[in-house]
Amino acid sequence: MYTTEIKHIGVFTSGGDSPGMNAALYAIAKTAEAKGIKVTGIRKGYEGLIDGDFTTLKSHDLQKKVQRGGTMLKTARSKRFMEPEGRNKALQTLLTNNIDALIAIGGDGTFRGLLAFSELCNLPFIGIPGTIDNDISGTDYTLGFDSAVNTAIENIDKIRDTAESHNRVFIVEVMGRDSGYIAIHSGLSTGADAILIPESGKDFIYLLDKVKGYNSEDAFLILVSEGDEIGAELVASKIREINANIDLRIARLGHVQRGGNPSAFDRVLGIRMGVEAVERILSGAKNKMVGFLNNQLNLTPFDEVIKQHQVKEELQELLKLFSK
Ligand code: ATP
Repeated sequence: MYTTEIKHIGVFTSGGDSPGMNAALYAIAKTAEAKGIKVTGIRKGYEGLIDGDFTTLKSHDLQKKVQRGGTMLKTARSKRFMEPEGRNKALQTLLTNNIDALIAIGGDGTFRGLLAFSELCNLPFIGIPGTIDNDISGTDYTLGFDSAVNTAIENIDKIRDTAESHNRVFIVEVMGRDSGYIAIHSGLSTGADAILIPESGKDFIYLLDKVKGYNSEDAFLILVSEGDEIGAELVASKIREINANIDLRIARLGHVQRGGNPSAFDRVLGIRMGVEAVERILSGAKNKMVGFLNNQLNLTPFDEVIKQHQVKEELQELLKLFSK
């Protein structure tokens, strides 16, 4: 049963952009239109919420953007929203514009922001996990992760071609901030010889042992997550200490992993999460994130979602088996 009070939903994207955000926006507009609810797009995340930087969202326009990466609403990191003054101003903007509920697509920082905002008012807030890092509890997949891994794989495959032609050691740095998920998935998918992730701390002795046995007769591929404590440069210098003549290169994939057309998985996930977010907010849910857990859409309270996120144990075991 729906609560009758909600007539106007505001939606925004916040933090880092990720492929699949536009699909979620499309689904939110489409679902709201079908239910006769007004949707307002808030541009540039919390910055737009503070300043009243609004735009009308129409499913007809968004339908053609499902295949596009990035976010049509633009995104931002807002220092002002971190302060009570900024949040008070944002609340005034919401009230002045008669917005009854908010849907935010972003990462854990965005949900921390919503939690802080919820202390000021009793409006319903729902989150959708949109980040390439896959570092959020309460969902097996965040929007954009699958696309980022596919982009990483495409590029690592190319690096392997040249590495094999020259019998080179390549250290490839992938994104993910403090989460090793992109490194693990792309490393397993490309047959990497070693995968270093932040969650493993400084454990890379095994890699140096492996390098000692390397005979320069083939490519040797090492994947390093950008948030790894050791980092690509230190790994390179330790390898050179073992063998100064080794033919070694570092490649940083960088922001290409954020952009590009979303994968089919992220498009459908975005659409499913968008529909679910509107349905749930109308059913009375508040301060919860829509996730995709054990192959099902679900809801998790923000205070659970923002807890320290871990790489699944099963994946850590895979890492040991394939990396060492
Ligand atoms: P990504 O994982 O892609 O970086 P994110 O949502 O975690 O996305 P953040 O920059 O950490 O990105 O957070 C987005 C915004 O949320 C911040 O710029 C800030 O405006 C707001 N925010 C984060 N933490 C808080 C907090 N504790 N209180 C109020 N606002 C917050």
